[in-house]
Amino acid sequence: MPRKLIAGNWKMNCLKAEGIALARELGVRYAQDSDPEYDLLVCPPFPLIDAVAQAIAGSGVMLGAQDCHPGEKGAHTGDVAAPMLADLGCTHVIVGHSERRQDHKELDLEVAEKAKAVVRAGMTPIICIGETEEQRDAGETLTVCARQIAGSVADGLSSDTLVIAYEPVWAIGTGRTPTTADVAEVHALIRAELSRKVTDAENVAILYGGSVKPGNAEELMHVPNVDGALVGGASLAADDFWSIAQSSR
Ligand code: PEP
Repeated sequence: MPRKLIAGNWKMNCLKAEGIALARELGVRYAQDSDPEYDLLVCPPFPLIDAVAQAIAGSGVMLGAQDCHPGEKGAHTGDVAAPMLADLGCTHVIVGHSERRQDHKELDLEVAEKAKAVVRAGMTPIICIGETEEQRDAGETLTVCARQIAGSVADGLSSDTLVIAYEPVWAIGTGRTPTTADVAEVHALIRAELSRKVTDAENVAILYGGSVKPGNAEELMHVPNVDGALVGGASLAADDFWSIAQSSR
């Protein structure tokens, strides 16, 4: 079974001092935990990555980014390349988040290219998939997720170089979550679809994301095939994020 991963997506939040304080607090708590049984990851916005790296140094908390460009370097104003993130100490990069798919019109092929760039740079992509409310209402959830796995998961990856996050778009930041039965059904489908792509699909961590809070984490984290959480809003408060992490035990 994959080791549990609790990942915080800070999105476009926190000024430097706030980010450092949050990261330090998590670092202290995680370092004091003699047997955490799960990995803890924070994904701050680009300008804070270096400061957060210093704040969590030696604590065991891992560092990630929220996106990257598919290329290694070059004339791409405003973009950030995967090797730059690895150079700062990142181990993971979120790719294909629904906010990127919506705001920046990212398609599956580009997400797959970004995931490959992340792996080339020695890090692990967290590839996000999930249906919109319209697609769910039309009964297309499983088809959409299968299509996104087929298109966004680059060939040649393995459990060492791949994490999937199932994030129903309608659950992100809304306080609404699917039933545990729905989560179980989608995660089982994802595991089955991954077996067409990677040889050790059973070891790939599949995270659930979308309005995970201290009050619902325990239930969600113990659904079959749920190997952790990608947490947005609740990752900005140390107590909430910590409580979610504890629920994954
Ligand atoms: C996210 O956007 O990755 C997310 C899960 O957000 P929230 O937890 O705020 O719903």
